[in-house]
Amino acid sequence: MVDRLAGKVAIVTGAGRGIGEAIARAFVLEGAAVIIAERDARTGEATAAALRDQGAKASFVQTDVTDQASVARCIALTVAGHGRIDILVNNAGINVFHEPLATTDDEWQRCFAVDLDGVWRVSKAALPEMIASGGGAIVNIASCHGFSIIPGCFPYPVAKHGLLGLTRALGVEYAARNIRVNAIAPGYIETQLAIDYWQTFADPEAERLRTYNMHPPKRIGRPEEVAMTAVFLASDEAPFINAATIVIDGGRSVLYHE
Ligand code: NDP
Repeated sequence: MVDRLAGKVAIVTGAGRGIGEAIARAFVLEGAAVIIAERDARTGEATAAALRDQGAKASFVQTDVTDQASVARCIALTVAGHGRIDILVNNAGINVFHEPLATTDDEWQRCFAVDLDGVWRVSKAALPEMIASGGGAIVNIASCHGFSIIPGCFPYPVAKHGLLGLTRALGVEYAARNIRVNAIAPGYIETQLAIDYWQTFADPEAERLRTYNMHPPKRIGRPEEVAMTAVFLASDEAPFINAATIVIDGGRSVLYHE
């Protein structure tokens, strides 16, 4: 612990498990007070309790980023409890993968409700608090699907392309008010989301190995590796990094396929 986020108040959406949980753990280790804004009460409560057991300032506020009233409650409780919001990590996200013409309107909306509208909904609610308190940092967890396409994975990449656009738009708009908005684009990261995806294949173990082999380091990423970058972007060590995207994929998106 080196206190790079000492005294800061951070909201992390979808922090009950996976990448969000790793970010919450890394943030409290760096001295932040963290609000676990998670839809799932079981994982959200458990993550907050585990962090508190280690002496961290962590609380769970049940939050569904698709629901305006739920988001407003999360922001209000954070401000009531801590007086400010310094950091927002928009991590909550879902995979919605279909062939485009097989995508129903409901599936399109389910994807956008979380992956793009949800980010804007929480950002729109948190930004006035950041502006009022003199600044802040937003970190959006996008994806390599934000600039590349895998056939049959529609409309997730459309939402993630939009999320990079949202990052750039908000970053430019509020920079003069001391707010930085950046994105992380992870490649494959070993979380339940990835494990569930492998389970959609006839041979999940073969798909897991195929995935490892398509990355130059012959493995996929770990949630902690995304969390380290989230700490950096949220901290005062990145004061002139704004409207940017950092790719964490072991070099896969640079690899020229033979
Ligand atoms: P997980 O599914 O493991 O965790 C996501 C968490 O977000 C879950 O706890 C989930 O809760 C929660 N969540 C989902 N919808 C909502 C909602 N409406 N409101 C609040 N919380 C919600 O995913 P990952 O940790 O793997 O992914 C985190 C982010 O990283 C996502 O944005 C994803 O798109 C992105 N990403 C992940 C990659 C990977 O390979 N894992 C690669 C690139 C990007 P519940 O259990 O209730 O659904």
